[in-house]
Parts: sequence; C-alpha cells; structure tokens
Amino acid sequence: MNAKIYDFHGGIHPDERKTLSNRTPIQHPPLPAQLILPLGQHIGAAAEPIVEVGERVLKGQKIAEANGYVSVPLHAPTSGTVTFIGPQPYPHASGMPAPAIVIEADGRDEWAPLTPRPDYREMDPDALVALIRDAGINGLGGAGFPTAVKLCTQSRHHIDTLIINGTECEPYITADDLLMRERAAELIAGIDVFAHLLTPSQVLIGIEDNKPEAIAAVRAAIGARPYEVRVFPTKYPSGGEKQLIRLLTGLEVPSGKLPADIGVLCQNVGTCVAVHDAVLLGRPLISRITTLTGEALARPGNVEVLIGSPAHELLAYAGLDESKLDRLIMGGPMMGFTLPTLDVPVIKTSNCLLAPTAAELPAPPPAMPCIRCGECAEVCPANLLPQQLHFFALGEDVDQLKAHNLFDCIECGACAYVCPSSIPLVQYYRAAKADIREQEQKAKKAEYSKVRFEQRQERLRRAEEQKEAERKARAEKAARAKAAQAEAPAGEAAAPAQAAKPGLSDEQKKLKIEASMAQVALKKAEKQLALHATPELEAQVAELRAAAEAAQKALDAAVPAEPAPVAQPASDDAAKKAKIEAAMLKAQIRKLEKVEAPSAEQQAELEQLKAKLAEQEKLLDAAPAPVAKPAEQSAEKAVDPLKKAKVELAMKRTELKKAEKAGADDGELATLREALAAAEQALHAAEEQSDKPAPELVRVDKHGPVDETLRALKTEVAFARADLRKLERDPNAGDDALGAARARLASAEQQLEAHQTTTA
Ligand code: SF4
Ligand code: SF4
Repeated sequence: MNAKIYDFHGGIHPDERKTLSNRTPIQHPPLPAQLILPLGQHIGAAAEPIVEVGERVLKGQKIAEANGYVSVPLHAPTSGTVTFIGPQPYPHASGMPAPAIVIEADGRDEWAPLTPRPDYREMDPDALVALIRDAGINGLGGAGFPTAVKLCTQSRHHIDTLIINGTECEPYITADDLLMRERAAELIAGIDVFAHLLTPSQVLIGIEDNKPEAIAAVRAAIGARPYEVRVFPTKYPSGGEKQLIRLLTGLEVPSGKLPADIGVLCQNVGTCVAVHDAVLLGRPLISRITTLTGEALARPGNVEVLIGSPAHELLAYAGLDESKLDRLIMGGPMMGFTLPTLDVPVIKTSNCLLAPTAAELPAPPPAMPCIRCGECAEVCPANLLPQQLHFFALGEDVDQLKAHNLFDCIECGACAYVCPSSIPLVQYYRAAKADIREQEQKAKKAEYSKVRFEQRQERLRRAEEQKEAERKARAEKAARAKAAQAEAPAGEAAAPAQAAKPGLSDEQKKLKIEASMAQVALKKAEKQLALHATPELEAQVAELRAAAEAAQKALDAAVPAEPAPVAQPASDDAAKKAKIEAAMLKAQIRKLEKVEAPSAEQQAELEQLKAKLAEQEKLLDAAPAPVAKPAEQSAEKAVDPLKKAKVELAMKRTELKKAEKAGADDGELATLREALAAAEQALHAAEEQSDKPAPELVRVDKHGPVDETLRALKTEVAFARADLRKLERDPNAGDDALGAARARLASAEQQLEAHQTTTA
C-alpha cells in the first residue's frame, strides 16, 4: 500500500532544465595543479590550520582542526605541498577573500593511512559521532551545518522519524539524482549508520517523481531493510526541510522550532554517502558530486570534484565557452548566487556551478512598485506574507519583521519568481536578516560587557571591604598593644627599649651639630683670611679655631662618656609610638589628599584618618616633658663654660652673617647683632672666670717671609682696635679708659703707617 503523501502550502513549478546534466554518468576531472581550501566551508567557526607553508601533506591528511563545537576539520584532497596560508578567493556574493590553505598537488595522489570501521556497531556512540566529526562532514545539501552537531542536538530528543532528503527540487541541479543512481549502495550503508545512532521508528527516503532511475536504484539497494522510499510530485521547494517533513509525515514544524522538536531528523543523500565513506572506508570528506551545467558549457554533467578545485578548471573541463557565458552562478537559479570571479574554489556545500547564457537566464527587468497582487503570499511555502515583509524590511522595522516570522523564510525565491513587479524580495529578506543578526550580536556583546563591568565593580567593592577590614584589624591590634604596654610593669615595658640599637643622645647630637657649625665658621673665616690678611681676621680665625677645637673636645668627651642607653620610662616609649603613629597617619592622609577625584569611601577614610591624627597629637601634647637623662646631665657638666661661650659666639656670628647675606630686614639684623653682642659678653665673662692661659695663636705664613716689625705693628694695631671695641661695647667703660684706648690705637696705626712708608 502506498503511504499517504501530504502537501505544503504554495510552491511553484519552474522549468526544471535537469536534462542538461543528468544524461551522463558522474565524471572525474583531472587532478588540479593547485587546490584552494577555505578554512570556513560550513555554518560555524572556521577551522584552524595545523600545517605550515612548505609542509608536505598526504591525501586525506587533516590540515586544519575544528575550532569550537560548531566547526569541522579540513583535510588535504590530494598529496602535495602547502604553498600558502592566507586570503584567497572565496565563493560568496560579496566577492570578499577568505583565509585558505593552498596545496600544490604533486600528482601522486598518495593517501594517508586510513582507519575503516566496518565494526562501527561495536563502537561507543559518542566515539562514532566523533569519528563523523573528525572526518570533516557537514551537510552537503543545504547551508552546511556540521553533521556531528546535528546528531548531538538530536540526541537530546527522541528521533522517531529519520528522513533522507533525495528531493533536489531546484532547477538545473542533478548531483543528488546521479549520486542516488550510481551510489545507492553507499547511500543505504550511510543511512544504516544514522539509523544505528538514532534508532528511529521509521526511515523515510523522499524523492521527487522526476528521478525514476534514482528511485529504482535506491529501492533496489534497500533490500530487506525497513526503509521506505516515498515518491511525490515535483514541486519547488519540496526539498526545504520543513516542506519535506510536511510532505512525508503531515507534521508541521512550529515557527522558531527545529525538526528534532517534533521527533524528526533530516539528512541529505550526499551527507549519507559521506558518512559511509568516513565510517566504512575511513576516508574524510575531500570530494563531492557537483553539477556543471548551463548552456555556456559544451559538456554539462556531474563530476566528482575534489574540494578546493578552482571553478575555472572545472568549467574548462566541461567545455566552457566564455563568449556565451552571461554570469557564473554557484547553486541553482532560485537559491544560488552570482560569483564575482571564476577563480573561486568548490567548497563542501557547492552542489552546482551554473554557467547560463544571457538568453537562457535573462536578467530580471527593473523592479517596480508593489501592486499588492498577493501572488507572493500564494506561493510562499512558509506561509508568510512576503509583500508585508518587504515593506517592513524597507522601513527597517525590526519588531514587525520578527512578528511576521522573517526567520521562517527559507529564501527559496518563489515569491520573487512570481512577482509581477520583479521586486528582488529575497535580497531584502537576506539583508534584513543580516542586520537583525548583527544587532543581536551587538546587543549580546553589550550585555556581556555590562555583566563583566558589574562583576568587576563587585570585585573592587569586595577588595575595598577586605582592605577596610584589614585596616580596622591592624588599628585594633595596635590599640590593644598600646593598652597592654601602658598596663605592663615598667621593667617589662622597658625591655624593648633596652633591646633597641643604641644611638646618639639628644645632647650628643647637639654637641655634634655645634662642632660641625664651628668647623664651618672656621673654614669660612680662614678663606677670608687667605684673601685679606688683616689682623682683625687673624684674630677672628684664632677665636674660631679655638671655638671649633673646644666644640670638638666637648663632643669627644660626651660620646665615650655617654652610658649605654638607659631604659626609658614607659610613658616616654608610648610617646615615641604616638609620634610614629602620627607620622604614619600623616603619610596616609597626604596619600589620600593626592587623589584627584576621591570616592565617597575615600573621603570618609580621609576624615577618619584626620580624626585619628588629631587624637594622636592631643596625646603627644599632653605627654610629660622628657626627663633629663643622666647622660645629658654629665655631658652638660663635661662642657667647659669657656668653650661653650666660644662656640655660642661663633654660632651667633655665623647666624648674623647668614642673615646679612640673605638680605634680612633691619629688625632681624638688630636682634641678631644684639645676640652676637651678648655672646661676646658671655665669652668675655667666661674668659675672666677661666683659669686657663690664653690660647696660642698659630699663624700660617702663606705669603713667604714676613717683616717681623711689620707683623708686630700690625698685631699691636689689631689688639689696640680689639681693646677699644671691647671698651666701646662695655656700658661701664669710663671715658678715660676709652680715650686711652683710642690714643693707643691711633699711635699704633701711625707707627704702622710710618713703617710701611719707610719700607715701601
Ligand atoms: S523566499 Fe521566503 S518569503 Fe519568499 S516564498 Fe520563499 S519562504 Fe516565502
Ligand atoms: S507579488 Fe510582488 S507585487 Fe505582488 S504583492 Fe507580492 S511583492 Fe507585491
């Protein structure tokens, strides 16, 4: 009993023109000199090359690995050498090149070792699917979806009906027809593999009634298997997946759903043969049957073509008359696309190269406005409203396009075929679909970026919280330690101080500074003396030298006299810690104040730190003045009052000079001069109280032998001047004493001048 054949809505009956190519057996064109293998030949991610330029490859050797789940590997169609990896012509309407591996054939066609699995029924199903995937198989009848992925997707559903698509409804194309006629046994063996994996209740092989030889061959090859060939009237597009399911089962695949959702899986006959070759012969997908047809060819027919064969070589093999060629179409006249060049290679989905003349497939007349005749809707096999979709596509109304199920359109071209206004409807739908996909891609990316941004913010927030917690823990620990120290007995608290490395006491530091300053003052005066050898400067240098020596002696006496650091009271130690704490807080505050745009958290932290600093400073202010240490006391005792007065005087003099040099105002200078005068008075007082003899003047003769009388006279002038000044500074000095001193100076100067005149 013949099974019921259903019908689908719409469809058309264009001129089939299949006899152009279905009268001759499958041919085998010569091996091309060069094969161009695009890395992306299917839906999904392009394969990743695993060979290098210059590498020799064998026929069937894997040359590019699947790059992701929805991807398939690529194999060398013949033996030869990889000569290039990069952009090459690609069969696409855009004419854009695509990455490819180029192989220079060596003519030997030498196979790589193969691993046939006639025992595939013993294999783990996953391993069998992996084998199919590894053989680089994608659907050979449509867009080229990776077959293994389709099998995995279906595994989530129970497949009740396995449909084998032998429809080949598009005009001109006869590749599947010839394949079924000549490779029916391999086809059935391939179906066996699918049936083994899917265990469907029924296997239906759908073939249009315009292929009687194929129907007979397949029926014969089925033998005793429970597979059923279902033959139905020729109508375009019966080969559409959803249309074929409807035809054979009466089931409708709901909009937006997959056949698997209703328990159906479809496979093309070419794909079944490829699976047979992969499993039972161990051969990966490196060739396919392609129809070469059109009236520009002298010998149209079907060829078993190596993937990567350049189109121009195949067309030349089929007797292309370029003068007759209007355009080259990859695919059929309904769903194919015009190729921009003849240099493109055949890929795994290339079922036809159509080379028509201008008269054979005339270009459509210019498009006219839609007259709302509704014929397009009449023929649409997807039950869509093509004219409405056209308007929404023109208006880029994405919502309406989606609401009118744009993505159910199978781009069969039936609507455009019947449109009296010659509107290229399918082009509008393709462009609209591409735009929507791009927008969705962008929206997905934006969403992904947003999620990542939010995750980063969350991470930063957590890190900040953790830092804050650590800061608090440190502060609490320090507070506990401080409290414990305050409560601990003095001896315990002193222990760390004793362990600390001893340094100079404050008094020693002071003496050291004084000694350094005295040295500096002395050096400066010596320099002046070298330039101007006046008695005054000589006297000054002598004084400064004495002062410097005194300061150094005081320092020398203080350093060894300083006992080992004495344990300080706990309060002193706490004050030190408070100082350190305050310094650390200041550093943190400065750091935060440098932040240009502080966050609210940072502001809060800054305020907190400032408050803590204020507390520390209060503590420091309230701390008792440091107790004078024994070492300091002994150092004070050790310093000779005379020396100290001399050092003090030298320092005051230096301060005054510095201020004069710096251009200080009169008030400041007056204060410094007063301080200097006071220091001089203090020195005189100390000298008077001192029982030490006056220091000997050590004079350095820098200018060679000197006149002794001159030196003596000069010295007398200097002493006389010094005594006079001394008296002038003394508020108690009497006029007589002053007058005598002035007279003495005048006399000394006269004597000196007289001597200089006589010796000049
Ligand atoms: S191209 Fe799309 S809209 Fe036009 S008839 Fe085919 S399925 Fe319908
Ligand atoms: S067939 Fe063409 S003219 Fe007629 S309704 Fe459809 S789009 Fe408009």
